[in-house]
Amino acid sequence: MVTKKREFGDMPADEFRRHGYEIVDWIANYFEHIEDFPVLSQVGPGWLKQSLPIAAPDQGEDFATVLADMDKLIVPAVTHWNHPSFHGLFATSASSVGIFGEMLAAAFDMKAMLWRTSPASTELEDVVLDWLRQMLGLPEGFEGIIYDTASVSTMHAIAAARERANLRIRDEGMSGRNDLPLMCVYASAHVHSSIDKGVITLGLGLRSLRKIDCNEQFEMIPEKLAAAIEADIAAGHVPICVIPTIGTTSTSSVDPVDLIADICEKYDIWMHVDAAYAGPAAIMPEFRKYFAGWKRAHSIVINPHKWLFTPFDLSVLYCRDLGALKQAFSLVAEYLKTKEQEAVKNGMDYGIQLGRRFRALKLWFVIRYFGVEGMIARLREHCRLARLFASWVQESNDWELLAPVPFALVCFRAVGVGSPHASNGSSHHGLNAIGDDHLNNINEKIMNAINASGEAYLSHTKLSGKFTLRLSIGSIHVEEKHIKKVWDLLNHHLRHSGSSSTTLRT
Ligand code: PLP
Repeated sequence: MVTKKREFGDMPADEFRRHGYEIVDWIANYFEHIEDFPVLSQVGPGWLKQSLPIAAPDQGEDFATVLADMDKLIVPAVTHWNHPSFHGLFATSASSVGIFGEMLAAAFDMKAMLWRTSPASTELEDVVLDWLRQMLGLPEGFEGIIYDTASVSTMHAIAAARERANLRIRDEGMSGRNDLPLMCVYASAHVHSSIDKGVITLGLGLRSLRKIDCNEQFEMIPEKLAAAIEADIAAGHVPICVIPTIGTTSTSSVDPVDLIADICEKYDIWMHVDAAYAGPAAIMPEFRKYFAGWKRAHSIVINPHKWLFTPFDLSVLYCRDLGALKQAFSLVAEYLKTKEQEAVKNGMDYGIQLGRRFRALKLWFVIRYFGVEGMIARLREHCRLARLFASWVQESNDWELLAPVPFALVCFRAVGVGSPHASNGSSHHGLNAIGDDHLNNINEKIMNAINASGEAYLSHTKLSGKFTLRLSIGSIHVEEKHIKKVWDLLNHHLRHSGSSSTTLRT
């Protein structure tokens, strides 16, 4: 039905209702049939741009036409992050209730800058983040603030650490000053690139970032950290921040946070823990062992949009002293002054953004709908599936595990050809003889073939020069059959990788 447009004002309520119901139906069908779509979009670069008009329509169009174009043009160009066979990067998913939260937040369209412009967002954020703090086993005193991404959370943490160094940077800046020492930031060689970007953004420069060596388990070596700090102090530099990771991006390894905290306390350095990916695992009591020492951090980042069923975006920065962040960022222009400002929390005081989205609503929905036990059950299942997959890798002679599996990420690679006899107890005789370059090629080919098939999506990393396949399990829709499917695909593509057993093993 084509509806005549009003001259002014928004879409009429009855039209909104009709399309709104259609869209909810669309989303419900999408989730029911998501496995009919290729996980990775199969369109080539430029396909969508070429398919769209180069200029905006002069006259408004019927919304039904727009929706039809979404099916025809947008959906083919979608990589389906909500697909249960999405195992690349870190698998994430938007739960249905989280989607409701996004819809309602868009309807309210509040900009949570001041308490008075957004009492609901400001206060709900405090309450929900305190619930989450308790779920994670963090002590009272940690107060949270929501940003869009971990990259931004970490950048704010480093900014607070820089302010704490008392070098008057907020007022005097860094450029043109010759009285400033080099301010050093320390992280492991496996740290996420957002830390590099943080030091770039804050004007510290990449030369201030010390990448500390890791052991064979990809964990930061604390003695090397202490030595780097000592050397920097001896050279007249000022260590301002150490960033251990719980759940690194490549392998989900866990830095020894407790030992690193000892070092930070000894030298009085801000410790920021990057638990963007693995943080939610702290909700499970049996996983708390990986979080020893994180209570001693000055700040911690955790991303509910990664592994807590919350639609992108929602990253939480917990600070032991949120005042440090306020000191770094609070600036109240005349038009933002309110009579209650001393008595309330104004979100704008804690970062570079003025307006902030009402993100707490979706997290509140997610936590209330699933409950703590429901979340634990789902996270636990993901970890069980990861261990199951890892056990298949370990039991096979054709594959090897390349890193421990503390959470729900498996790092592995092909080392042989799946001949009928290969997995019957024969050992990796030829392994040492096979060059890594050759194995790297084969593994890359297998990954590309699976991704091109649209059946599943895997991504990779490089560990000690080895092309490493990463299988991340984190979708709310994932079941054991999906893990089995990707295992079958891997073995199928290994057999068809163009190499024979002899070429691989000689
Ligand atoms: N930290 C870690 C350990 C990550 O794995 C990632 C992303 O995968 C990030 C930070 C950055 O996350 P975001 O996309 O929220 O900035």
